[in-house]
Amino acid sequence: MMNSRGINHQTKYNIEYDIEADWVIGLLCNFNCEYCISHTGKKYQDQDTGNRFIEFFNLSGKRWLLHITGGEPFLYPNFIELCVLLTRNHKINLNTNLSSSLVYDFARIIDPSKVTFINIGLHIVEREKYDLINDFIDKYKYLKDKGFSLIVSYVMYPALISRFEKDYEYFKSLGIIVSPKSLRGVFFGKRFPEAYTATEKKAFSKYSLTAENEAGSGEFLTEPIINLSLDRKFVEKSPNYKGKMCLAGKDFVRIFPDGKITRCDKKTVIGNVFDKKLELYSKARICDTFSCPYFCAKYSI
Ligand code: SF4
Ligand code: SF4
Repeated sequence: MMNSRGINHQTKYNIEYDIEADWVIGLLCNFNCEYCISHTGKKYQDQDTGNRFIEFFNLSGKRWLLHITGGEPFLYPNFIELCVLLTRNHKINLNTNLSSSLVYDFARIIDPSKVTFINIGLHIVEREKYDLINDFIDKYKYLKDKGFSLIVSYVMYPALISRFEKDYEYFKSLGIIVSPKSLRGVFFGKRFPEAYTATEKKAFSKYSLTAENEAGSGEFLTEPIINLSLDRKFVEKSPNYKGKMCLAGKDFVRIFPDGKITRCDKKTVIGNVFDKKLELYSKARICDTFSCPYFCAKYSI
């Protein structure tokens, strides 16, 4: 899987996999972040869907790199057991708010070499609301001690930009580097990142670069599927990939809670986990859609 810069993804990141997936495992979440559209998810009715996902991945004959996101993945039924089974044959990484007590079981049971990174959303307002700051620090340190690669991201909602520096310094004093993440999408009638003011964009870039430099090599993961260093570019100008060749649909797919598999968006369906169907493209195709620019940056060629 070579991109336009002649870089082989698997070799570059020293990760062995055949195909990567952004897997929205479910939309249920216990936080209620002001800038989130996912937290309306319903409680899980079917406790057995995890086994159907595992069966699908194993029968595909491919080694998957699964970016598990939500909602809050730790709320998914039997999540630790699911991760145990997934990491036998595949690699995973997570987006999580780290609030579940199951995080300790995860850290104890799951082999960190099978987890390429954990992206922890700090979501400072919700965390303060539930008095979970020290809980977060304890879990961060526990995971770190166990050898997991951790990213802590901080969604730069305009109302939070003025407090970012103070929060950054506080967590830095505890050895935790917090990296700004740009808003994307429509919030209160404004489209972001375009709606950031020039001052907010300048502050974002400064904080983002500081975080990247202060995290040091190996700590700030510059090119996983969640590539926070790209946000500095995205806040200046939303990229448009339409018309470019892209390996999404061949080397990358998205998977949704109902089992639907798409090229990268919500409409270009190429399979379904529960029907045990996946029709991957045999080569790169022209981009005629829109998706998260992290995916576009990694898979367009
Ligand atoms: S923690 Fe994540 S999924 Fe949950 S409400 Fe906040 S942004 Fe949404
Ligand atoms: S939207 Fe992005 S990931 Fe999807 S085909 Fe276009 S460039 Fe590729």
